[in-house]
Amino acid sequence: MKSIYLDNNATTPLDPVVLESMLAYFSDGFGNASSLHSFGRVAEEAVDEARRKVAGLIGPCEPQDIVFTSGGTESNNFAIKGVAHALRDKGRHIITSRIEHLAVLGVCKFLEQEGYKVTYIPVDEYGIIDLGALKQAIRDDTILISVMYANNEIGTIQPVEEIAAIAREAGVVFHSDAVQALGKIDLDAEKTGASLLSLSSHKIYGPKGVGALYLGKGSRITPLIHGGHHEKNRRAGTENVPGIAGFGKACDLAGERMEEDNKRLRFLRDRLWDGIKRDIRDVRLNGHPEKRLPNTLNISIKDVDAESLLYNLDLKGIAASGGSACTSGSLEPSHVLKAIGVSDSFIRGSARFSLGRKNTETDVDFTIKVLHEVVERIRGRFASH
Ligand SMILES: *Cc1c(COP(=O)(O)O)cnc(C)c1O
Repeated sequence: MKSIYLDNNATTPLDPVVLESMLAYFSDGFGNASSLHSFGRVAEEAVDEARRKVAGLIGPCEPQDIVFTSGGTESNNFAIKGVAHALRDKGRHIITSRIEHLAVLGVCKFLEQEGYKVTYIPVDEYGIIDLGALKQAIRDDTILISVMYANNEIGTIQPVEEIAAIAREAGVVFHSDAVQALGKIDLDAEKTGASLLSLSSHKIYGPKGVGALYLGKGSRITPLIHGGHHEKNRRAGTENVPGIAGFGKACDLAGERMEEDNKRLRFLRDRLWDGIKRDIRDVRLNGHPEKRLPNTLNISIKDVDAESLLYNLDLKGIAASGGSACTSGSLEPSHVLKAIGVSDSFIRGSARFSLGRKNTETDVDFTIKVLHEVVERIRGRFASH
């Protein structure tokens, strides 16, 4: 049976070259990067090299502005709780958007319980944040604006530089969850104007459980994890040396391949959408038609439930997802699709196809064919009831 993986926004397969770059640090290079002897120095050099590579992919920016973490979720927790706690005497108001990843929304909910106030800015039908509403939401006690760079479900890319300019003018710290942007968009941390950017390794063909927070100069932040003096006192805990080395390698490869990968992925994604539109009636595209990640296609099919759709695709070896990976398994329609106003008759039939380096034209054509058959079958069943 075929095995076609179209869920690359949930995670990506580890690149074999990345795996190779990690192996030495599981064996002879096992040292603790904080140790002063030769074993420690080998590990420390690996971490430093990875830091330069991660910094290289987002600018380049200064390597010392990169703090390694356990992934995108920790980076978002570190950024938002860290700024909230560091600036608590200045104010307790945070602004974010309605379409953030749960690793941002969950942190905001937690801070609300601690007495912080959070404003959730609406987005338009394409998922672009309402800049007017953002400006109006800023108050004297606003300390942080957190808006994602690119959305994991619908792929919409935010006007990050404009948001940064609004934040700067108001003297408010700006954080962006850039996990989906890394490796897919030409990121320049300093030009972007964000003080903090969350990054993750496993969305760019690196290992899971490792990520980073870009911390621009002068950012005041309280650590999330306390203990030793690792990462210049910003994140305690012995560094995950193999994971960090792999993340560095993955950033290197992503930088080299970005242009070529994006061109191919955009072509395959558009071919998939063209085929779907041609074969299936009453289907809509979710997200911005142009300002969108090149690999992401989110659609809603009228009178079809995504669960049977995805189940039937899986039976044919095609892996896609409905809504976001974190909310699948629950029947709640995605908060992102609700925020862009997808109507009731469409929202339950929503599926995300996120393409990756391994996908081919054959994969795409097979998916179109199977999807068409499955939708016909599901609709036929509904009609006969
Ligand atoms: C995957 C993802 C995260 C979480 O990153 P992890 O490394 O899996 O913790 C956060 N934000 C976005 C937009 C993501 O796509």
